[in-house]
This record gives sequence, structure tokens and C-alpha cells, in this order.
Amino acid sequence: MTDSVSPAVRTRFAPSPTGLLHIGNARTAVFAWLLARHHGGQFLLRVEDTDRNRLVPEALQVMIDTLHWLGIEYDEGPDKEGPYGPYVQSERLHLYREHAERLLAEGKAYRCYCTPERLAELRAEQERARVPTGYDRRCRYLTADERASHEAAGDPHVVRFATPLEGTTSLEDMLRGTLTYDNERVGDFVLLKSDGYPVYHFAVVIDDRLMKISHVIRGPEYLSTGARDTLLHHAFGWEQPLYVHGSEIQGSDRSRLAKRHGAAAVIEFREEGILPEALLNFLALLGAAYSADREIFSKDELVALFDVDKLHPAPAIFDRTKLEWMNGQYINHILSLSDFAARCRPYWERAGMLCPDISDEHLKKIAALIKDRVKLLSEVVELTDFFFREPNPSSQELAGKKLSVPDSHRALQAACERLGAVEHWTIAETEAAMRALAQELGLKAGDLFMPLRVAITGKTKTPPLFETMEVLGRERSLARIERAAATLADA
Ligand code: GLU
Repeated sequence: MTDSVSPAVRTRFAPSPTGLLHIGNARTAVFAWLLARHHGGQFLLRVEDTDRNRLVPEALQVMIDTLHWLGIEYDEGPDKEGPYGPYVQSERLHLYREHAERLLAEGKAYRCYCTPERLAELRAEQERARVPTGYDRRCRYLTADERASHEAAGDPHVVRFATPLEGTTSLEDMLRGTLTYDNERVGDFVLLKSDGYPVYHFAVVIDDRLMKISHVIRGPEYLSTGARDTLLHHAFGWEQPLYVHGSEIQGSDRSRLAKRHGAAAVIEFREEGILPEALLNFLALLGAAYSADREIFSKDELVALFDVDKLHPAPAIFDRTKLEWMNGQYINHILSLSDFAARCRPYWERAGMLCPDISDEHLKKIAALIKDRVKLLSEVVELTDFFFREPNPSSQELAGKKLSVPDSHRALQAACERLGAVEHWTIAETEAAMRALAQELGLKAGDLFMPLRVAITGKTKTPPLFETMEVLGRERSLARIERAAATLADA
């Protein structure tokens, strides 16, 4: 019996709710989502919660929120009704049981009563003898009487697949071509555990079939066990979906990706101030190429360009510097000023900087001073804190390296007078006044601007000085310069 797979493109993301969404899984989600959207198909979220020991409460909700933040919308899922639900595996146990019964009845699977102790002993023996480890198929050959007595005793059991004893099994991977597995090495793998829960391959093959999945896009960790998918599809007489195993993701030193390479969970990137559109762009390029001379693509462009032939099977390198560069490109060149200011707001809020009556207009003016120089949203707090808090530089900081304390005191006093007298508090007028003053004092412009900058901001590296003074306003700027002069006078 072979009924054909629906020709419509339907892909799924099938996370296990065992923790946060990390780079590898997030990239899988992005690829699967892009493929469905590119072909005008559907994208599903399916929750693979059959490994009951590894479940983390809240993990599913965090995952859903993270996908939402990344801009990956699914058409069917645990909280989005669809024709093939439920979309949570623990609510589908009856389906796995029915399918296991079918294979048992057809002699393609068998109940195995071997105890965990026996299996551990077997493994130890095989290791001692230096032969490949694996189940020795004892229960495959039980007599009808032996089976009946196990059943009568109510012995716990698993259901195992009766893998062909010889020959090979192949899986077609769209990136790598035909992968061939030796059946002897595949072994009689478990389908249902003794608690009645299915193992990964069994549940996945059944769900992908019943949910009419056309393309299975998943991580490279499933390449080594791909024979199981093929064997199960054959056993049911089903046509297989198309398989795409994404490339491995490595750190810049070509070792397995880890925290030390700057890899983090998606929500951690979010907290650091990576924008969702930049992360989506970055993930879509991790093991794929769409153009020889471009790397910045909008969501719509990615949807239009994406296809399986753009993916590479070779390991992809996770480059944290590139992610930050890309984020900077979005902040500096793509976001509008109001959008940027709105995205900075939560960072200022969390740092306790905003008083309730601060206006969006004022925040926009502050944001404009830094928009072209930040790579991460989290940087904005440190770069702009002096707008929200009074700086308190010491005399040493104010004098800096170029001027003596008395000279910088004189310079700031004079600056205060001149600035107090400018007619309009504009960048042009304040800057002209300060350049003229520097000349009169026989100082290089920069040597005057530095103590002034420290007086205004408390820092030596800041947004442009006169722009900053304009946003800060005449009164606050003059008060700070006056206070700085007093600090120098007391020194
Ligand atoms: N539950 C599996 C995981 O989290 C999904 C793999 C698949 O996409 O089939 O790795």
C-alpha cells in the first residue's frame, strides 16, 4: 500500500521542550519556515515531549515566545488549531500505540521483555569482547509459549523493530545525496518504551506522515540514524518525505559550537540587544548563500530567495563578530530613528534611567546621537547615561592628560562665560564660540573640548560634543560646566 505524499510544501519545527532555544535549533526553525513560506506552503510547530525525564516546565512557552520574537509564525501548532492536531506528542500516544500494534500484527516488530539489568550485562560483555555493542535480538526469537508466559506474568516490555538481518538501507538527503546504512549495524531499535511512550524516530515518522509533512528539515545529529526513518516508512508502505539535514555549526576554531564561541540561547541574544531581524538574517546565512556580494537581506527577500539548493552540507562557522556587525548594519542603516528609540526604551527603563514624564521626542533626540555608532541595543545605556544622571568627574579626569588642573580650571570658567553669552543654543553657535575661545587661550581646539566633554558627560568617549550639549540644553550644560570648574578650583 503506497499512497503518495501531498505535493504541497509543509514543513515543521519539532523542538523538545527541554530548555532554551539555541542557535542550532533556531537555524533549523528558520530554514523550515523559509522553505514553507518560499513555496507558499505551511509551517507547523510540533512539540516532541516524549522524553519525560528531560522536560522543563515553561520551556514550551519560552520557545513559543522566542519564535514569535524572531518573527517566525507557524500556521498550525499546540496553540493554533489545525486539521492534523494535536501537535503535542504526549497527546498522541494512542496513535503511536495503534501503529505499533500494526507492525506487531504484521511481524515487523516484536515485544522485548529483556530487563535493563540483562541489557547492561550484555553491553558489558560486548565491550569486554571488543565487539560492537547492541541488542542481541533474543526476544525476536522467543517461542509462542515463552511470549505467552511473559504476558501472563505481566512482564514489562518495550516494542522493537525487526530490522532486516542483512543488506543495506538508504536515505536520500537533499544536500548529501544517498546515505547508505548497514542493516546489521542498525540493529533492532526500540519503537515504544516500557512506559508506552514512543522513541524519537517512531513518533516522528508517524507524525510526519499524518501531518502531511513534505520536507523534514532537521539538525545533522539525525544523519547517523537516518536508516530508521527509511525502514519504518517501508514497513508501513509509505512514501518518504524529502530530507534535509542542515550542516553542523562550529565555533571559529572549528570545534563544536559552545558558549565560549559567543554562542548563546536566542533569548540571551535578545537581552544583549540583538535585533530579531538581524538574528533571522544571520541564521538564514548559517550554512547557506544567496548572493556573492550581499549579506543583508530583509525577511521578504529571504523568503523570495530561499530554497534547498542554497544550502551547503559543509560545516558552517558561527562568527559572533559577524552577528554584531550585521546587527550594527540594521541599527545604523535600516531602522528608522523612531523605531530605534522605541527599541532602546526598555534598556533605559531596565537600567532605571527613565523618569515617568520623559517624552518620546526627547528620547528620539538622544537616540539620534548614538544611532550610527552602536552595534548592540544594550550599549545605549552606558553611552547615554549622562542624559539621565548627573556626572561627577574628578579633577584628574577633568584635566586629562593635556592640561594642568589650573589651566583646565581657567579654560572651563571661560567656556562657561562664553557659552552663557551665546545668543542661540545651537550646535553652530556653541561650537563657533568654543573654537574662538580655544584660539584666544592658545589651545588646540581638542585640548579645550576634552575637559568640556568630561564636564558635560563624565566620559572621554561620547557622542559629538556640541550635538550632545544641544540635546542636554543650555541650563543643564552650563550647570555641569560650572560644577566642573568648582571641582577643579577645589583641587
Ligand atoms: N525533537 C527533535 C529535537 O529537538 C526534533 C528533530 C526533528 O526535527 O525531527 O532535536
